[in-house]
Order: sequence, then C-alpha cells, then structure tokens
Amino acid sequence: MVQAAARPKPTLQPEYCKGCGRCLDACAHHCITPGTTIDPLTGLLPVTLSLDECNGCGLCIDACPEPYGLLAETLPAPEMPTPAGPAPARPPALDLPPVRRALPEGRPLILKGAHASAIGALLAGCRHFFGYPITPSTEGAEYMARLLPALGGHFLQAVSEVAAINMMYGCGGAGLPTMTFTSSPGFALMLEGLSYMIGAEVPGVVVDVMRGGPGLGNIAPEQSDIKMLCRGLGHGATHAIVLAPATPQEMLDFTALAFELAFQYRNPVIVAADGYLGQMTGKVTLPPAAQQPGLPGWAVHGDAAHRRNLINSIHLAEADLEEHNRHLQAKYLRMSKAEQRADLYRCADADVLLVACNTPARMAKGAVRVLREEGIHAGLFRPQTLWPFPVRQLKPLLDHVRTVVVVEASEGQLEDELRLALSHAGAGEGLEIRHVRRMGGVLPSQREIVDGVRQASRRRARA
Ligand code: SF4
Ligand code: SF4
Repeated sequence: MVQAAARPKPTLQPEYCKGCGRCLDACAHHCITPGTTIDPLTGLLPVTLSLDECNGCGLCIDACPEPYGLLAETLPAPEMPTPAGPAPARPPALDLPPVRRALPEGRPLILKGAHASAIGALLAGCRHFFGYPITPSTEGAEYMARLLPALGGHFLQAVSEVAAINMMYGCGGAGLPTMTFTSSPGFALMLEGLSYMIGAEVPGVVVDVMRGGPGLGNIAPEQSDIKMLCRGLGHGATHAIVLAPATPQEMLDFTALAFELAFQYRNPVIVAADGYLGQMTGKVTLPPAAQQPGLPGWAVHGDAAHRRNLINSIHLAEADLEEHNRHLQAKYLRMSKAEQRADLYRCADADVLLVACNTPARMAKGAVRVLREEGIHAGLFRPQTLWPFPVRQLKPLLDHVRTVVVVEASEGQLEDELRLALSHAGAGEGLEIRHVRRMGGVLPSQREIVDGVRQASRRRARA
C-alpha cells in the first residue's frame, strides 16, 4: 500500500501577521488561537499556532491575506529581520518622484470656494477621498463624488468622521494623496486619527470649513477651530501646517500646496477655511501645471518593492518613543522655519496694524481703505499660515507699528496665536494689542473695525 505524502503544515511569520483572525475561522481543527503577545516589530498581535491536530489542509494559508503571513512549512521562508539580530541587507524600496504635467492655458473659472478647493486637490493628484457630510463643507465632498469616478478615482462616504480619517491613514500610508472635507464638530471627531497620522508620519489633507461652536453650534462662519488646529491636534506633541485661505483662488492654491507640503514633511496638512469661504464664488485661475503623484520609498504599498515597509505610531519602549518625539520636534522646527506665510497690505508705513485671516480679513481690508482716506496709517497683516504663525514677516513691521488690532470671528483664538508667537520670538514689547471680535457666526463688520481702530487711535492720542 502506498502511503500518502505528509501535507505541509503552516508556519507563521509573526512580523507579517496583522491578527485579522481569518485563519482562525478557516481552521476546522482549532489549531490557531488569537495572540496574546504584542510583536515588537509591528506593535500588532500575531496569532498563535498549536499544530498537534493539524492535518495540513492549507485552508488557513489560503485564508491569510498576507503573502508572507502563513507559509507552508516545506517552502523556504524569506529572511526576516528579527528584533535581536541585524536586518538582512535588501535593496531600497522604490522611490518614484511626482511628475509635473503642464496644463493648457485657459480662461479663469468662476468657482465656489469649496469647489475650487476640490479642484486644487485633483490637480495635486488626489484620487482618493474619504469623508462624512457636514455643513458647510458638504459641497466639496459632493464635487469630489461627481468628479472622482470619471478620473478613475475613489470616493467613499464613511460611516463617520472617525472612520474617514482612519481610511485616510491607510491610504496615506500606502503613499497615495488623500483628503477629506469636514467642518468643526466633524474635525473634532477626527483628532484621534490625526494624532495617529502625525505619529506615524502619514501625509493627508483635511479641509476644515469652520462653523459656529461650541457643540453643534450652527453652520455660520465662526473661526472656532484655530485653537484646536494650532494647539490641539490630538494627544502628544502634535503639529500640522495650517493654511488659512481668504479667497476662492486661495482655496484652490492652498489645497494644492497642502498636498505638496504633506508629502514633503510626511505629515497631515490642514486647510482652515470658514463657512463663507466654502460658499463664496470668485474668479479662479488654474495653475500652469498639475501633479502626477509618485510613490515614496517609505510607503506601505503592497507591491514587491514596498512590501517590507512598516508604518505605525506605537513605540512601546520609553526611550524609543522619546527618540521618535525628538525626531518629530526637529521636523516641526524645520516646518516652522520654512513655512511661515503672510500677505501684507499697505503695511510699509502703518502705525496701526490689523491682523486678520479668512473672511474677516476681507472686511479688515475694506476698513484699511476707509481708515487711509481718513489719514490713519492702517495696514493689514494677514497670516496665511496659522501654524506656524508668520512672526518672521511681522517682526520688521513692529519698528513702526504702535498698535495691533486683531479682527476675528472667535473669542480671541487668533489673538492667542499672535501673542504666543510674539512671546516665543521675544518681540512686541510695549506693543498695544486690541481687538474687534464677534462670535456665534457673526462676522466683524467693516464699520465695527473702523470704529475699533478710531477708538484705539483716540486713546493713543490722549495718552
Ligand atoms: S493547515 Fe488546516 S488544519 Fe492545519 S492549521 Fe491550517 S487550517 Fe488548521
Ligand atoms: S490570516 Fe494571516 S494575517 Fe490574519 S491572523 Fe491569520 S496569519 Fe495573521
């Protein structure tokens, strides 16, 4: 009688097991149990094999979605890096740079701010959108839902903002440009995922169309998220560049720029708009070129060249996490030195400086014109990055500026950023800082700003 050859039993490569449990369900002999020990290389929980009852059917191997998760014991296992030994030499993962493609010259378009932002994302090569509708940001998501399928892209309405940001984590981790549109309460829900993305150094773009708060608040254009965006992007030492557009053109330009910066620094980037900017219609000129994304060497992309990459935000050893934090701090420092941006209007001879961003900056600009006609030397300093705050552009103006009036649609969130930046820069001693503020979605009017500056000027003249 001829004996059947023994069938190969499975062997587990714990570094490639993500603990999904599919092999548990596949095994009729209960040879596989959920893991209880975190793998130090991955931070995940690989399953445990106990093969006394195993008949070598191979069903667990078929069920495993990881190419190296479970292998038949007779097959040679690939060389694996182990925590104890040196990693085997391997060729560097493929690093394909993005390519700029010239666009034909065309006439300017008349676009709503949210649509301009969506077009900026598409021109930056974004073909993966994950989101959950929330007013007043929904027009951006709707536009992406219409355009992405025709461009071979993917639009996915997630079950919540929490799900959406974690889908972005996966997509960005695969090295692909990805984005979402959301608004203040939705953004608050995304903070945990954003912290993970920042910790794991995963790029992605969030367009936050700010609305009134706290709580559900309303859908009017309060600048209610500045504090959260600049100081509270989840637990731990988290920062992201925060771009603040003031026109539909900047909605497009800053969204496209956000993708560039997100990949340059391997970090999420936030575009902080407000409810009016999302709805506001204006003339928008397309850039001269669009971007065809590359594929970074660090991406966990699933192809042979990137399969051995790993991205996570867990560092269980205290010293490792401290080292990782030092690395992040160094990156934040590079960002804050290189990415401060501001727009200056009639600031060269100003002794009163209005500081405003987003839609309130438009009212402030009108107020500068009125004040100049009255002989008051007013100027507008408009931060285009809220983090890092553009103190480098502000400091030289303080040689002649005596009063700053912060104009904002919040209870002082922008003013706090200004004061913190001045304090860190050791600047602004003796500077008078006043404000014109509205809340709840009410914007400061041009008249209120003009009155506020007149009062400040009178007070100064009396002093
Ligand atoms: S080879 Fe078959 S019997 Fe053995 S562990 Fe896998 S599924 Fe279970
Ligand atoms: S199916 Fe593969 S990845 Fe999933 S738990 Fe089993 S061995 Fe791990």
